[in-house]
Amino acid sequence: DRCPLVAGNWKMNGLIASLAEIAAMGTAYDLALKKKVELIICPPATLIGLALDVAMLNGIGLGGQDCHAAESGAHTGDISAEMLKDAGATYVILGHSERRADHGETDNIVRVKATAALRAGLKPIICVGETRHEREAGEALSVVGRQIEASLPGDAPGTIVVAYEPVWAIGTGLTPTLEDVAQMHAFARERIEARLGGGKSEDVRILYGGSVKPANARELMHVPNVDGALVGGASLTARDFMAIAEAY
Ligand code: 13P
Repeated sequence: DRCPLVAGNWKMNGLIASLAEIAAMGTAYDLALKKKVELIICPPATLIGLALDVAMLNGIGLGGQDCHAAESGAHTGDISAEMLKDAGATYVILGHSERRADHGETDNIVRVKATAALRAGLKPIICVGETRHEREAGEALSVVGRQIEASLPGDAPGTIVVAYEPVWAIGTGLTPTLEDVAQMHAFARERIEARLGGGKSEDVRILYGGSVKPANARELMHVPNVDGALVGGASLTARDFMAIAEAY
């Protein structure tokens, strides 16, 4: 049985004052909600250590937004999976479309990073999703299938999460139809099974991401094979993020 996961990706947003939002999320994360849905926030790395006390106290997990494949070394500006773990993270987002676009991350790089995350004891949230151009060309399924095949470690000891985020739905207010989400998530689970084997795909949570808001969370979260949400803009305030969590 897959416990739904609602993950907030703060991207390059958040200062020390923003920790008040995590505290407010914690206050609203009551026992009834804790039984229904797991919550994590992935703030910028600068805030992970500072957020740890308030997040842990309230049962909210923390994640990074990227990691380097190596454990340590001469890689100026990078952060290893071991460092994120040490700072208090339990998850790490990998292969977000913004990293793929802004930093040239390929499926191959994402897979190596995911292996590093598992090595450090972090749960990778591996992002996949087609561009608008690819969807219009009828290639959405084939693109996502290829990304799953190449971005997931074939031998995954530990928990992995996959996030389907159509690039054209990120920060645009646009979302795919519920039918398209259902089709993609069912297909993604098939491809994850083909990659991992042994029935392991049944334990992999497949999140939907891209313009998830309080107003559309309930319908999106109840689509078959949607096991939670990866939320950008609407995760920045406790009000919106908790309204999305309440969709369960
Ligand atoms: P928005 O929720 O702001 O569309 O961002 C989605 C996203 O990229 C989460 O990783």
